[in-house]
Formats: sequence, structure tokens, C-alpha cells
Amino acid sequence: MGPLGATTAMSVSRMALVTKSPLTGAIAKSVMGGSFGAFLKFAGYDGIIVEGEADKPVYLHIDKDGINILDAVELWGLDTQQTHQKLREKHGKSTQVACIGPAGEKLVRYAVLISDLRVGGRTGVGTVLGAKKIKAFAVNSSGPLSLHDAEGFNKLNKEIIEGLKAGQGRIKMRDFGTSFLTLGFEKNGIFPVKNFQEGHLEGLEKISEEALAGIKIKNDGCYGCMTKCGQVRQVTEGPYKGAVSEGPDYETIWSLGGNLANTDIGALIAADSLCDKLGLDTVSAGNTIGFAYELYQRGIITSKDTDGLELNWGDPAPMMTLLEKISRRDGFGKLLGEGTKRAAEKIGKGAQDYAIQVKGLELPAYEPRAVKGYGLILATANIGASHMYGRSRDELAGKKDKLTEVDKGQDAAQAEILQATQDSVVQCSFSPVTGFNAQQRSQLLVTATGFKEFADPAYVEKIGERTLCLERCFNVREGFDRKDDTLPKRMRTEQLKDAGPATGQVFKNLDGLLDEFYDALGYTRRGIPSEAKLKELGLDWVVKDIKKFTK
Ligand code: SF4
Repeated sequence: MGPLGATTAMSVSRMALVTKSPLTGAIAKSVMGGSFGAFLKFAGYDGIIVEGEADKPVYLHIDKDGINILDAVELWGLDTQQTHQKLREKHGKSTQVACIGPAGEKLVRYAVLISDLRVGGRTGVGTVLGAKKIKAFAVNSSGPLSLHDAEGFNKLNKEIIEGLKAGQGRIKMRDFGTSFLTLGFEKNGIFPVKNFQEGHLEGLEKISEEALAGIKIKNDGCYGCMTKCGQVRQVTEGPYKGAVSEGPDYETIWSLGGNLANTDIGALIAADSLCDKLGLDTVSAGNTIGFAYELYQRGIITSKDTDGLELNWGDPAPMMTLLEKISRRDGFGKLLGEGTKRAAEKIGKGAQDYAIQVKGLELPAYEPRAVKGYGLILATANIGASHMYGRSRDELAGKKDKLTEVDKGQDAAQAEILQATQDSVVQCSFSPVTGFNAQQRSQLLVTATGFKEFADPAYVEKIGERTLCLERCFNVREGFDRKDDTLPKRMRTEQLKDAGPATGQVFKNLDGLLDEFYDALGYTRRGIPSEAKLKELGLDWVVKDIKKFTK
């Protein structure tokens, strides 16, 4: 939890899950929403460090009296909804729960942690909990929290919230969530189709923001946030009638929809809901299934390899089956549960060329050839190709040219620093969209904690830069350097097809942009923090280690 967590401030009660990724072998960080973190803090804990593993399934029950490690044999095998229900039956309706599903138990490499309708996704944090045989965390507690200057904090916070209420960005997030990005991004070639083969999809409007708004039943969101950007939607007709999911957000509209040329809104909602129940990351799951569809299209695999499934673009039925099979590590699903990098290595026959990943983490819903600064962020992110490691906002908003491949290193470096700063406060990454700014954050930090240094936003940003640098040092220790800051071969060698203004684009100058990026951060051209930079950031204690790993 961050220093503002569990207060009444907006978008700051999220929690950060940090470990080593079973998918990439690099640092893993997942910042998730919901209410669990706030109640953990009410119970008196800023965080939990888990070391070692249990010899049989357990869950951690936390309240003001302490932490108990309890037997979870009866919970093992349950989906995430059932697990929430069981724990609430036992500990009371107000119990806050965060748990893994069958995918985490079976060590699918991209398993997530789920708390009600919120997800801690991407880098396999749920897999690590599965390996430790931790099925869930349950907390019983109540607020409020004591603050350094509660009166000052409340006055300031009230003013900030009043000022943010009418913001257009916030209202758009409230009404549509991130789904509002879909059609605009497709128009600009940013929305990848058929495993990044092209940039246009006939019928995309059937799963776009307007269509999804038509089946919305309510909003949902994180503790203390008035935006409540989560869109709970229910399928109203067809074979998936009645299916409910919180989402899909833009990433999942792509991963389980457009990426597979699937424009069936019912199947999309049902697949999103299924991933949450099974505890699967929708981005990696959809990307990996898209990879399998392309291998099938090219004849690299056949129905003999897929347990009889015919993987034809636009047909969502095999996707539903594969999600189940992946989560249970059954047959072909076992291979796909390894992620695209490992699956491609095992399949061979050139399959590596169609594994759309960086450092082993599957790309999200951004075509690097159509938005080059964002491509640089995906190439350099320490956790692998994640949309949660910095955003090139000016480029995406059309304020900067999307297609040029020079003078983007500084912006990418700054975007990663800003994201690391937000992650360090453990604040929602949509804060800039909703209008909550760095100055306001600094003022809240001072009144909440009494630390006067926080008054300077540059001081807070330095903490972000230090975090980013330390995460890179972690990776250096694990053998990562410039060679790993790359993009899939497709982006560097193939022209993008049917992608509006980005048609014909190839990512040609990644090397030049990497030099710019490293220079901006004070890293060597090998992508390793220099001794001077480490000292400037107060990371003197890392210098010796880094030298050891960079001989
Ligand atoms: S904007 Fe959405 S994700 Fe961010 S804190 Fe609010 S509800 Fe959570």
C-alpha cells in the first residue's frame, strides 16, 4: 500500500504486488485496484512480505489481532468467485478477499490475483502465490485511519475532489471506462488485429464503446474513487445471455475480441468473465491464443496439435475452450499456459516469429509500428511489454507525431519515471486523465504523513526515478541488458497492413531510440545504470553489485 492508501483521497487506495515473474524472469509489478488494500491498512499493515512456501494449501486471515495462516484445502480448486463466497461465509459478509483461481494453482505462467471485480494482472503474480500454495488473503477490519493532519487533509481533499468532479476526462472514464479508446485507436492503426498482422477489423463497432455502453448495468471501482471507471455489463441475448463481467476494458476488447477477429459481444463478455473466474490474465491469454490461431492459419500447427480444435479467425468458440484448457493445464492448453515465448520454443518450425512478446511478456493492445514512442516504452519496460509501465500520452493524443523514430527517448524515459512515481504512491494510472495532478498529490502527501519533503513534486518524482532504476538493477542481476530491450521481429521487419495512416510502417530505428532513452536516464549504452546515476539517486549500495554483474 502507498502512503495515501485508505484515506478519502481519490484513486490512491490501490496496492502493488511485486515479485520475480515466472513468465519473464525479470522484476514483476502489478498495481491493482479494489478495496482489499484499504482494509489491509485499516488492520494495521502497510504491506505483506511472503517468504518461502507452504507444504499444503493455505490462506492468510488478517485482522487487528494479527495474521493467521489457515488451512485452504477446501478452497483449492475453487474458482475466484466461489473462493470469495466461501471466505465470506466463514468470516462474515464484510470480509475483503484477494485470491487466485485454478490457473494460479496450476502454475499457468500468467495467472492473476483477483479481489472482487478487480485484477492484479500481467506478470504472473498469481502464479507465484500458487507456487507458495497461498490460495487467498482475507481481511476483517474497519477504518478510519489516523493521519498526521486530518483536518488539513480533509479540507484539502474536499477542494481537490470538488475541482475534479466536472472534468471531461473523468466523466468519460466513468461512462465508458477505457473502452472509449477502441474505435479511435483502430482508425489510427494502433489496434492490432489477428496477432498484429494488420490494423483494421470489419465489424469492430459491434464490440466498441457504444455497443458495450448499451449493455452496461452499473459502475464499479476502487476504494475512495468517485470515478468508478469499472463497467459492469451483462449479455442480453444469444448463447451467452446472462453472462456478466466487469469490463472488458480496452485491453480485453482487443485481446479476447479484435485480436482474434472476434466481434461477438456475448462471447467477449463471457470470455472476460471466465478469465476472472479462472484467474487468468486476459492480455497474455488472448495474445497467446492469437499466436495459436496464427500458427494454425499458417499450417505450423494443425487440429492434431490442438486437441481437435479448428482455430479459425472470427470464431470465438475455440477461445472459450482454450481458456478452460489453459487454466487446467490440459492438453494443448498446457503448452499455451507457458506463454508465447516458451510455447514457440517448444513448437519450433519458425513459430518464434509469431510470438508477439518482449522479455517473455505478451504485448498489450498497442501496435508499436503505429505509435513509435509507445513502442519504445514496450521495448524497454523492465517488466516486459506492458501498457502499465508508462504511456506516451502526447503521442496517443495526436499532440506529437506517432510515426517518427527520432527524439522520442526523452519522452519515453519521462513516461516511465512518471509511471514509477505513480506506482510508488500506489496511485491509479488514470489520475492524469481525471485531472488529479502532481501538485495536489504532493500537498496531500504532506498533510497525510507530515514529511515536508513531499511538498516538492520533483522530490516525489525522484523516488519514481529511483524505483525505475532499482527495477532495472534487479534485471541486470538476472542477466538482462540492451539485447532484451527489443520488439518482436514482426515489428522490425514486416510492413504493417491495412492500418490507416500507419499502413506500410516498420519499426526501423529502435537502436537509435534506445540510445536516446539510455542517455536520458543516465544508463550506459548497454542499458545499465551508470555508477554516477546510481550515486545521484542514492543507490550507492547497489554499485558494487552492478559492477559484479557487468564485468
Ligand atoms: S479511475 Fe478506475 S481504476 Fe482508477 S482508482 Fe478509480 S475506479 Fe480504480
